[in-house]
Amino acid sequence: MTVMIKKPTTENGLRKIVEEMSGVDLGTCYQCKKCTSGCPVARLTKSVPSEIIRRLHLGAGNELLDSDLIWMCLSCETCYSRCPMQINTAAVIDALRVLAVEKKAAVQQGNVPLMNSMFLKTVESFGRTYDLAMIMAYKLGTGSIMSDTEKFPAMLQKGKMALLPHTGADKQVVKRIFKKSQQSKGIVK
Ligand code: SF4
Ligand code: SF4
Repeated sequence: MTVMIKKPTTENGLRKIVEEMSGVDLGTCYQCKKCTSGCPVARLTKSVPSEIIRRLHLGAGNELLDSDLIWMCLSCETCYSRCPMQINTAAVIDALRVLAVEKKAAVQQGNVPLMNSMFLKTVESFGRTYDLAMIMAYKLGTGSIMSDTEKFPAMLQKGKMALLPHTGADKQVVKRIFKKSQQSKGIVK
């Protein structure tokens, strides 16, 4: 696959901030592309993991936040486990995802950011994922409430989706984690 790397359009690249957010030193990447060859979504995306790292090396700025990999990445960490330099590309992509939301670059990726946001909100509220609430909030957000509902009764019947949220989670601990994360980003005091 030939990857075209565009010239940066912003003066200050994102490398430093991404390194700080992810705790990853990108300087040791030597572009062997083992991350890309193992990535399960690289064939479907326009941008691939090694390209993201290379563009950061070359000083890419906010234009990098348009990369489709940011929202199609499964956080499976295959890239990390295959990297001979132990570069955690999944953490790098996670940092870019946060920046994309902050800079409102995420709207270009369809409803994926909405699903991401509803997922986080249900974890914050219930201490764990609560699929039913997440899907209802997501569908309200998309305005397409009745689409894909035909499988719902079978999922309930087979126990693939619970009507009520889990009760075992320590909600207070999870809320504290969210608050700490938001404080570290300066979202709340
Ligand atoms: S596997 Fe590691 S060293 Fe190789 S291109 Fe990917 S990030 Fe760079
Ligand atoms: S974590 Fe994301 S980028 Fe890395 S291999 Fe998995 S899907 Fe690809």
